[in-house]
Amino acid sequence: VTAKQREHFRKLLVERLTDIVRTVQGDVRELSQSELIGQDGPGDEGDESTHTLMQDTRVRFAEVDAQRAQLIEAALARIRAGTYGECVDCGGPIELGRLEAVPWAVRCVDCQEAYEFDARDRSPSL
Ligand SMILES: [Zn+2]
Repeated sequence: VTAKQREHFRKLLVERLTDIVRTVQGDVRELSQSELIGQDGPGDEGDESTHTLMQDTRVRFAEVDAQRAQLIEAALARIRAGTYGECVDCGGPIELGRLEAVPWAVRCVDCQEAYEFDARDRSPSL
């Protein structure tokens, strides 16, 4: 990738990271509000289970966001180190179209497919 492309992807990554941080902060605010409402008094059982279910879903989303934020931060570190756009497995260039779709990608399409195939292959034997 050229310096200009690096700058383009850096901006893209920073935007995505800002989005995630904003979403998570919004979630945390909502969560503490609903927790305060829950403390006001005991609701009926139906309310209680819906409440738990919603919290559960939020926590799962937050986990996905946290993982993605880590990937984005790692990609930004690679931009700083000058290794951004290089496949971690074969060292070859990651396709630009792939980086546009997944700016935090660490593998080229071929290596990613091989990696996912390996992961799929391994799990049933456990
Ligand atoms: Zn590769």
